[in-house]
Amino acid sequence: MTLVKDPVCGMMVPPDGDRMALHKGRPFRFCSELCKAAFLKGPEKYSIGHPNGGLPSHGTRRIAYFSMEVALASAMPTYSGGLGVLAGDTLRSCADLKLPLVGVSLLYRQGYFQQSLDEMGSQSEQSVQWDPARFARSLPGTVEVTVEGRAVLIRAWQCDIAGQSGHLLPLLLLDTDMEENDPRDRALTGSLYGGDERYRFKQEIVLGFGGIRMLRALGYTELQRFHMNEGHAALLTLELLREGNSEQNGWDFNGVRDQCIFTTHTPVPVGHDQFSYDLVKEVLGDTMPVDLLQMLAGQDRLNMTLLALNMSAYVNGVAKRHGQISQEMFPGYTIDSITNGIHSVTWTAPSFQELYDRHMPGWRTDPFSLRYAVGIPNNEIQAAHVVAKGRLLEEVTRRTQTSFDPAVLTIGFARRATLYKRADLVFMDIDRLLELTKQVGGLQFIFSGKAHPKDGPGKAMIRRVVSIAKQLHPHIRLVYLDNYDLALAQLLTAGVDLWLNTPQRPLEASGTSGMKAAHNGVPSLSILDGWWIEGHIEGVTGWSIGPGPAEPGVDTSHEARELYDKLQTTIMPLYYRSHERWLDVMRQAITFNASFFNTQRMVQQYAASAYV
Ligand SMILES: *Cc1c(COP(=O)(O)O)cnc(C)c1O
Repeated sequence: MTLVKDPVCGMMVPPDGDRMALHKGRPFRFCSELCKAAFLKGPEKYSIGHPNGGLPSHGTRRIAYFSMEVALASAMPTYSGGLGVLAGDTLRSCADLKLPLVGVSLLYRQGYFQQSLDEMGSQSEQSVQWDPARFARSLPGTVEVTVEGRAVLIRAWQCDIAGQSGHLLPLLLLDTDMEENDPRDRALTGSLYGGDERYRFKQEIVLGFGGIRMLRALGYTELQRFHMNEGHAALLTLELLREGNSEQNGWDFNGVRDQCIFTTHTPVPVGHDQFSYDLVKEVLGDTMPVDLLQMLAGQDRLNMTLLALNMSAYVNGVAKRHGQISQEMFPGYTIDSITNGIHSVTWTAPSFQELYDRHMPGWRTDPFSLRYAVGIPNNEIQAAHVVAKGRLLEEVTRRTQTSFDPAVLTIGFARRATLYKRADLVFMDIDRLLELTKQVGGLQFIFSGKAHPKDGPGKAMIRRVVSIAKQLHPHIRLVYLDNYDLALAQLLTAGVDLWLNTPQRPLEASGTSGMKAAHNGVPSLSILDGWWIEGHIEGVTGWSIGPGPAEPGVDTSHEARELYDKLQTTIMPLYYRSHERWLDVMRQAITFNASFFNTQRMVQQYAASAYV
């Protein structure tokens, strides 16, 4: 006879005992009248999702994680870049760790955009059609927010993110595309980073106010922590204040603050969302007193970062250096740092997954054991890399009809195409670059990255790289692959030989693509900014360009010169003439960096510093 669990005390009891109660058509058994009576008083309080009392009901989820974008699959275009990838990887690791967390974001029926590039590298943007029902299920029930005096109905879709052990973590995607809504409001959850600042503010109302109301409506009754991934979600603090407000007690600032966590991602003030109070008044009406907003979010403009800072008990930057810079930018606040990571299994290519499974079984649930990569023989690393490189070069041929030489040192550069990322730094001195390739072996480059539709200079940079490709032909092969997304990022970060990163200091808050590369044994050559300050050990995990973080800046041509020098005197000789030593660097990138720069470690730090 299989025993069943008493949902109140947890004792195992016979399945046919007399002390039984039906709840929602399901039978539950009890060890005593005491347990039965307790259950009947409030069945929802107990773990009744499973006949054995196994799965918790969602009422026991204590942490809500809010993000304007979440990246889970290429075919689910609810993200634009790094911020969304971080959110998706965070949720995956929370599911692996079975943390009691629920995610909240928006649905974006038209997504971010699909990028295509013409011959000259001019970007055009197409909206994406996708079927949310393939990834999520529509939940019954609606909540309401007020926008420009109109009631806007919001419904939610639930996407279940499965952890390594099968644990499901719910992500709620808010959707205003309902017949009852005014057409203007139906479009509010249409496109990510489309539209003007008024559209943007309304989206943030849906996320912040709507998100909290939806959680309440769905019965998330035990939430104690609200984590804002960037300031876009900061209006949630106002909703929490409003909920707790009463005639006798007034606004409970401390009570709300104790529950809120804010992760800032932007190292420059212009990166912070700000709205004029004229706009705020027009959109919010009198739903929130403006003097309260001014007190919490700035006198002149509603600054989302300031609001989040003022209303959070725990604030952090996304790498050690970024924490310091944020602290200098906001003196008087205490700003910690938790360095970003990536989800190890998601970003490890199949050939390296097999390798790790053989040498470090258990790495999927415990990526810290990637440190034991130190014992993997060179030839096996080489074999796994040849497969990953082959997959990438095949994709390059399929897309561009250009065949790359698998024997040639292949440099990858892919990220959002925007000025500070300086995709063109490596082309500062074309003659010098061409001279390098006269050395044994040569170089080839693979670029990718979307520019924001309104980022003219970012688009111009793509055109510049494409035109440089023509100049370099036929001495150096260079392709710019269009429509950078999760799937392409997986192929690229695993399949190149060297990952290049040349941001303008100190604008790279963290950067995560180099961590993806490290998970596949691909070393970085990078400016010392963001995560690389922590991940870089010269000649061991990769190489630096330019001065250390504490040293004064140098001009761009100096950085470019150092980049060429490193390639010429260190990197190319190692790759072509001491390939065993090159494989050592690959192994060390895994050992030192994959074992640390993962979201498993990152989420555990959030749990210890912010969620407890
Ligand atoms: C990882 C990733 C990013 C972020 O890369 P950074 O190095 O932080 O710039 C952006 N877009 C996609 C599709 C990614 O996979």
